[in-house]
Amino acid sequence: MVGIMEIYQLLPKLNCKECGKPTCMAFASSLLSGESGIDDCPPIADSEYRDQLQHLRSLLAPVGNATETGLIIHDELCFGCGNCVVACPVNVANDPHGAAIGLAPSNEKVILVVENGVVVARNVGECRRFGENKILCDACIVTCPSKAIEFV
Ligand code: SF4
Ligand code: SF4
Ligand code: SF4
Repeated sequence: MVGIMEIYQLLPKLNCKECGKPTCMAFASSLLSGESGIDDCPPIADSEYRDQLQHLRSLLAPVGNATETGLIIHDELCFGCGNCVVACPVNVANDPHGAAIGLAPSNEKVILVVENGVVVARNVGECRRFGENKILCDACIVTCPSKAIEFV
């Protein structure tokens, strides 16, 4: 998982505030959460930062694909074993006769399902990490044998 210092080191480190943040470190945090985009930093478009910009874009690409809960599924690592599907407490609670026992979902409130050999996330609003009352559920992460799931 990409870290805030890794992001910070690639920024111009001018603390010029043009991005609307008080410091480059604050902007790095904002990039990591998905609140800001790289293009919100005007100085980094300067040719002297070309290599840094390219590196930043590649580092942040997965963050751009994160859901509202910060969930990222790395398709290339997922082999569709379904561990996360049956471990997700929301799947278990909402669909005890379907996804929770490894069958096709029979309830529209399931979050994780395997489609075409790869897990996909639906209904992320049902995830225990979603919204103001979120809790740091990690059932899907810890049961994945290939580290295909992360939260940013
Ligand atoms: S605009 Fe770029 S260089 Fe200026 S403070 Fe923000 S991140 Fe730093
Ligand atoms: S964090 Fe918890 S509730 Fe959310 S998808 Fe993963 S296992 Fe399900
Ligand atoms: S546990 Fe990991 S490898 Fe298995 S389906 Fe879920 S994300 Fe894919």
